[in-house]
Amino acid sequence: MNKGKKAGKGTNAVWGGEFEPFQDGSHTVPVVKSVTYAYDDLDEWYEVAKGNQKGHIYSRNTNPTVAVLEEKIRLLEGAEAATSFATGMAAISNTLYALLKPGDRVVSIKDSYGGTSRLFLDFLPKLNIEVTLCETDNHEELEAEIAKGCQLVYLESPTNPTLKIIDLKRISEAAMKAGAITVVDNTFASPINQNPLELGADLVIHSATKYLSGHSDALCGLACGNRDLIDKLFRYREINGASLHPETAYSVIRGIKTLELRVDRQNQNAMQIADYLSGHPKVKKVFYPGLKSHKGHDIAKKQMSGFGGILSFELEGDYDAVKAFLHNLKYVHLAASLGAVSTLAGPPRTTSHVELTEQQREDLGISESLIRYSVGIENPEDLIDDLENALNLI
Ligand SMILES: *Cc1c(COP(=O)(O)O)cnc(C)c1O
Repeated sequence: MNKGKKAGKGTNAVWGGEFEPFQDGSHTVPVVKSVTYAYDDLDEWYEVAKGNQKGHIYSRNTNPTVAVLEEKIRLLEGAEAATSFATGMAAISNTLYALLKPGDRVVSIKDSYGGTSRLFLDFLPKLNIEVTLCETDNHEELEAEIAKGCQLVYLESPTNPTLKIIDLKRISEAAMKAGAITVVDNTFASPINQNPLELGADLVIHSATKYLSGHSDALCGLACGNRDLIDKLFRYREINGASLHPETAYSVIRGIKTLELRVDRQNQNAMQIADYLSGHPKVKKVFYPGLKSHKGHDIAKKQMSGFGGILSFELEGDYDAVKAFLHNLKYVHLAASLGAVSTLAGPPRTTSHVELTEQQREDLGISESLIRYSVGIENPEDLIDDLENALNLI
């Protein structure tokens, strides 16, 4: 074995954090529910508490099961360090609160995740933190706003629901020149398809609730970056308390082991479905970064190794057509969220963008007849048959 060689993502997903034997030779990660950790020796306890020696003190801070998950995402994102949170939103809010102070300025995009948008529009301004939201794929506008001076640049690519693509290398460079930290929410791509740290970002965040867990049965947030930044997030989280439960960490660990297999299949399924829908007369427009017709295709090709499992499309017709279509699909749950093994779909007007007015949605390019379709790992021919049938019934 070549010891210096870096393992692939599929291998790291399985083995990351699991090289040292677990108790009694356990083959799977033990779920350590203990809140506290006992020491026979006061001096040892002191050294662990001071951080001079490996070990755990209290599970709000660190926990052996949670630590295995953190090591997996660290390897998958090629980061120096990683930490975890109770939910994706906890990862995002804790990151912003840990790194920003009154008087700071954030530059971000209009298409960020709904909850993140609420932080930008409602919560940060209350702390006297200025937020400027740019047109998502307008790189010139982003660069100009960043150059005016800011402390943090917050990005997502691809975005929800029209899969807009941002050149992460280009914008990270602009941020670096301005002395700002670049944070990328990598939830939609997953670490299999995209590694923002390699493109110059400083921090990567995941809602592990989605692809990493993969089964819609765990809420979890993760963050990766250099040790300094991750320490800041960890220090904030251990006091503010949005810690991950070890049972949930176990679910995500189990999910991650099949991440590469699932995402590979989802990439293939989504590409086939996007091609199929593009040729259908009842479909007005398909948004998928893998399509040559997609505005961000060239950048996506450069910075992603797969185009992901989410696509969206507009039907010919109005909202009644959307209802008829969705109600006639068989292999789908009409539900929020994404990245699960089973296909999920819904109109952004009732899910992610329900709080916006019709005009606000239109400004973001979200028409009333848009459907977001998060492709599962089903057999693609069944999904395409299902789509065909529901389209015929409109
Ligand atoms: C779901 C999601 C979040 C929020 O994650 P939770 O785990 O639901 O708190 C953040 N960003 C993106 C892109 C998401 O899809």
